[in-house]
Amino acid sequence: MVHQYVYFFGDGKADGNAQMKGLLGGKGANLAEMTNLGIPVPPGFTITTEICGYYYENNLQYPPDLKAQVDDALRRLESLMGRKFGDPEAPLLVSVRSGAASSMPGMMDTVLNLGLNDQTVLGLMKETQDERFAYDCYRRFVAMYGDVVLGLKPAQKDQTDPFEHILEEMRKRRNVHFDSELPASDLKELVERYKTLIRAHMDVMFPQDPMEQLWGAIGAVFGSWNNPRAIAYRELNNIPADMGTAVNIQAMVFGNMGEDCGTGVGFTRNPATGENVFYGEYLINAQGEDVVAGIRTPQPINKAQKTDPNTLSLEETMPEIYQQLEEVRRRLGRHYRDMQDIEFTIQKGKLWMLQTRTGKRTAFASFKIAVDMVRANIITKEEALMRVDPDQLNQLLRPVFDPKAKEAAVKSKALLAKGLNAGPGAATGRVVFSAPDAEQWAAKGEKIILVRVETSPEDIRGMHASQGILTARGGMTSHAALVGRQMGKVCVVGCNALEIEYRTHRMTVGDRIIREGDWLSLDGTTGEVFVGQIPTQPSEVLSVILEGKGATSDSQVYQDYMELLGWADECRTLGVWTNADQPNQVEMALAFGAEGIGLTRTEHMFFEGDRIDAVREMILSDDVEGRKRALAKLLPMQKEDFKGIFRVMQGKPVTIRTLDPPLHEFLPHEEKDIEKLAHDMWVPVERLQAKIESLHEVNPMLGHRGCRLGIVFPEITEMQAQAIMEAACEVKKEGIDVHPEIMIPLVGHVAELKNQRAVVDAAAQEVMKRYEIQVPYRVGTMIEVPRGALTADAIAEVAEFFSFGTNDLTQTVFGISRDDAGRFLSDYLGARIWESDPFEKLDQVGVGGLMEIAVQKGRSTKPDLKIGICGEHGGEPSSVDFCHRIGLNYVSCSPYRVPVARLAAAQAAIRQKNAKS
Ligand code: PEP
Ligand code: MG
Repeated sequence: MVHQYVYFFGDGKADGNAQMKGLLGGKGANLAEMTNLGIPVPPGFTITTEICGYYYENNLQYPPDLKAQVDDALRRLESLMGRKFGDPEAPLLVSVRSGAASSMPGMMDTVLNLGLNDQTVLGLMKETQDERFAYDCYRRFVAMYGDVVLGLKPAQKDQTDPFEHILEEMRKRRNVHFDSELPASDLKELVERYKTLIRAHMDVMFPQDPMEQLWGAIGAVFGSWNNPRAIAYRELNNIPADMGTAVNIQAMVFGNMGEDCGTGVGFTRNPATGENVFYGEYLINAQGEDVVAGIRTPQPINKAQKTDPNTLSLEETMPEIYQQLEEVRRRLGRHYRDMQDIEFTIQKGKLWMLQTRTGKRTAFASFKIAVDMVRANIITKEEALMRVDPDQLNQLLRPVFDPKAKEAAVKSKALLAKGLNAGPGAATGRVVFSAPDAEQWAAKGEKIILVRVETSPEDIRGMHASQGILTARGGMTSHAALVGRQMGKVCVVGCNALEIEYRTHRMTVGDRIIREGDWLSLDGTTGEVFVGQIPTQPSEVLSVILEGKGATSDSQVYQDYMELLGWADECRTLGVWTNADQPNQVEMALAFGAEGIGLTRTEHMFFEGDRIDAVREMILSDDVEGRKRALAKLLPMQKEDFKGIFRVMQGKPVTIRTLDPPLHEFLPHEEKDIEKLAHDMWVPVERLQAKIESLHEVNPMLGHRGCRLGIVFPEITEMQAQAIMEAACEVKKEGIDVHPEIMIPLVGHVAELKNQRAVVDAAAQEVMKRYEIQVPYRVGTMIEVPRGALTADAIAEVAEFFSFGTNDLTQTVFGISRDDAGRFLSDYLGARIWESDPFEKLDQVGVGGLMEIAVQKGRSTKPDLKIGICGEHGGEPSSVDFCHRIGLNYVSCSPYRVPVARLAAAQAAIRQKNAKS
């Protein structure tokens, strides 16, 4: 049996289907699926993603069987189309496009009109009776081929494309604005000039042989998998580098053959709001990329979407086609049971579908569509939960403008212009006109609004670094709109009133001039652009959550949010707790749905008000007595904090950690601060300096910290345990249930925990006796050094719970410093030594491997040992999934990430259930 590398589709039948995305890429799999559904798709074939892997592993060679399979598919295509590749009478022309399993809009290369040469162009001309059209196709092809396949690019990044440069010269010479005003003879001349340009710069002839062209284009598409912008896109979107792209070769259809032709893109629902309306844009007499490239501003697809009475929608210009398209929209919506993003071309009054894929959407739309579809019985609650990206929740919790400040801005005529509302939210920042500037300014801590005529894939890093993106051209499906929306950026596009001058770093809007560095504010929900800085405030959902109006709010977004997260809570088995140190943080976390506190870092309380004085006095004391005196001052303060937290938590578990950081962190290091402290504390500067020096450690994060402090200075642990238990007793006496869990950090040996546990237990017993009340409390430990994990069975003899401190565990397992690993992190990521930052995403194999051992060993001693995680990974979706799989009881994360973790935990449970069934 020959291994199948080429999958054909056409004439109502396809070798592949939508399930085969991994092998055929998203585009190929869906072209096959649409063909099988009887939707009009130009026939063609897909070369699988396996070949991409093979190509890179075998020194850019193909497997020997591939050529014969491509030849076969080409013959089938020829016979279906009644045309031949390279035939001077009726030439078959094809498009060659990339398509990976995850969509990477605009990142990889495409070649259109392939098959044209000096002979076949004559056939095309005869057939269409249109010399201008034939040469327009040919010159576009030569330019695209020269750029994509032969690699003729501008010498420098900011220079005009060399082919575009010649075209511009031609337009100037003829004194015309648009390419469409150039006559056939000029286009013919362009073809020759392009060929000469290629010969001169690349030292090769533009190939006349269509087969050579085809293999050139196939290689270029596979090659584009590893171009810098595709790599950058994959990095930003966590797409694995070994996924590979497929190559789709498809018979050309033309949207630029005249006024009865056109091309467009659409969404089966509004991608910004999620509303169930057909949403799209089109251009008459245009080819493929013209709509998305943002070169001409497209027209709305239907009457409902018109904002300007002077535009003509497709519904009005081609009512029959629009009806057919409506029907396709309905069928695709029903079949895929999700919002689709489609591309179509109309050739001489016939509709062709070129692509369907799951549509990118804002967080608002994502929620609305998921919840709507459950309400309409189209999908299940579990499907809805799996469709919402936990990270998108952050978008829902994004700021809006302070309404009063916005009103004032409108009144003071700060409204500069209005564009399309491509990415909701409010952003304010300083204007820059290039992506590299955006990156540089952002690195200096500035808030940035990136302003461009239009954006291109090269700009993605700059877009990522910006608060908001504003473009002068392009529609709702332009690059800026698609990519900005996906990144969750505030984005306004197609703001025609802007006249941008890159050279002078400024833009004019009417009689106003905006210079680089000026403040601008974008309302991505309305499309408004304001001069100046408008303060922002929390999102609608956030306002309701934080104001505690609960379900009584009539905000639709809030209701959708609550409903979906309610379903998440029904599905998940993993608890979601929070890391919080202050009563107000705890309140916020509870409003977000936290079920307990997984980590209170007591040292964070040491910086409040003048407490630091008592802390410093404690550190500077030379004897136990002195330290105890200072600690006695701290005790009531800590106790009040704990009481505040216990009251808010109303009986939910509260995990409080004893002191962890190295003591030098509490002392000043700058000379003038040292002098001031010496003065305030009535100690000689030299003595203070000597103390600071004695606390100096080469590796403080591996030094005298964690339980090592409590072991050397038991009075610290004693004071903290006493403060916790006194607070617990007092709050319990107020009639409030209290569940303190005292956690000892950085334990690597059971004897450490035994030592600290004895101190805690003694203090607790003393307090309860004094208060004449019993408060159930637990003593547990963090597992955050490898020895702790490896000896978890012994540690579990003494611990009543474990909590993984994966920040320190990552540091100690990798042997890297959590303080300055950043210095080589980008090199590691760049060289793909690490797939991601291990401090952000849990390293499931290494750190996770140790966690699994600890879980298994801990529970071998205590079968129902409660185990959680409180490192930063507790709010990161892929890490939450891992924690679910290894059987943790809860994850604990910062308050704002609690909703993310709730959804991620539900997804983890559903994923596991689906994998089992
Ligand atoms: C940890 O190490 O993961 C942890 C939660 O503790 P900290 O970050 O305070 O060291
Ligand atoms: Mg730690």
